Amino acid sequence: MGKEGRRFLPNLKKLGSPRLNLDESCVVIFMEAIRNVVKEEMEIWPYTNELQELNRAFWQTIVHELRHTMQDNPLFENKYEAMSREERERDAENYCREIFENIVVCYDYCVIS
Ligand SMILES: [Zn+2]
Repeated sequence: MGKEGRRFLPNLKKLGSPRLNLDESCVVIFMEAIRNVVKEEMEIWPYTNELQELNRAFWQTIVHELRHTMQDNPLFENKYEAMSREERERDAENYCREIFENIVVCYDYCVIS
């Protein structure tokens, strides 16, 4: 693994990671961590559809991390600059839920089987 690759080694406690440089903006998600979180959820909520949950977690993680790239690279005013880390997290969490519930579920979003 080259120097570039080492910069992206996943923190296994996180589900995803935004790139902070506008020129290289992309999102890295850690599917193994997402699968583990969903498995833990299934123990608490056994009647949930595991495949739907896995796909929900997949999409929400992508949108959550994209929101962080929006926070770090705003095209217009930077209303995020004044936000604390916790406020940015809450904003990303609210945004990913809103996008998933209002947009993603309107489509055939189960891309992971
Ligand atoms: Zn976050």
